[in-house]
Amino acid sequence: MLPLLSRATDSLFKQLSHRLLPSSCSFCLAPLQPPAGTLCYHCVAELPRLTTQCQWCAVALPKNALCGNCQQNPPSYRRCISAFHYQAPVDNIILRLKGNPYTTEIKQLCAILAQHIAATYQQAQLPCPQTIIPLPLHWLKMTKRGFNQSHIISNLLAADLRREHKVTLEIRSDICRRILKGQDQHLLSAKKRRTSIKNAFIAEAKDLKGLSVAIVDDVVTTGATANSAAKALLRAGAAQVDIWSIARTSWNNPTG
Ligand SMILES: [Zn+2]
Ligand SMILES: [Zn+2]
Repeated sequence: MLPLLSRATDSLFKQLSHRLLPSSCSFCLAPLQPPAGTLCYHCVAELPRLTTQCQWCAVALPKNALCGNCQQNPPSYRRCISAFHYQAPVDNIILRLKGNPYTTEIKQLCAILAQHIAATYQQAQLPCPQTIIPLPLHWLKMTKRGFNQSHIISNLLAADLRREHKVTLEIRSDICRRILKGQDQHLLSAKKRRTSIKNAFIAEAKDLKGLSVAIVDDVVTTGATANSAAKALLRAGAAQVDIWSIARTSWNNPTG
């Protein structure tokens, strides 16, 4: 009980200090040097970046290659681009974002993801998609939560890509809808998750034909949700669909 209490007090102290001293890192309280955001350079350097990964679905691998799952069941999307492992403290920042749209640290994670996105297209010598679609929530979840965290991430990414990487982007929330609510996805096995998410989305828009689009999500787990949305967009005429996510898990992937 005591360690729990001391952790809670420590966390409360950190939150209060950060409010009173906004120029301190929200993790370690070190003084922030401009133009840092809310995390200091040291804490940013310690974030769990994805390095070697599957070149299709972004799951972590010992070296850059294609994972067994993508070789056996090629995803419908062209490529998933994620910046971080879904590990502390990134998992915590994403969980907080779902409860609080003003979670400040997400801005720095988005800036790092934007840099990674721009570098990935440059290396592959491919044009960056110019249409971003925040992964839609089912209307019941949207009503309960009051906002879509993928929309917040999309806004931050678009602003960064426009400002720092001179990419022209448009955010479209009118193209794709989630029609099946599904169960709490993280509680299901990979197989059940893939079955439950099939045909969960519909997409329609007159000007979708031939467009290259990117679906934005906070975290990709098996990729089944993103793949289902990608299929709906491809059926509706999109030329290709990429996935951009802050984080990627490894534990729910059949290949690890
Ligand atoms: Zn720090
Ligand atoms: Zn893969």
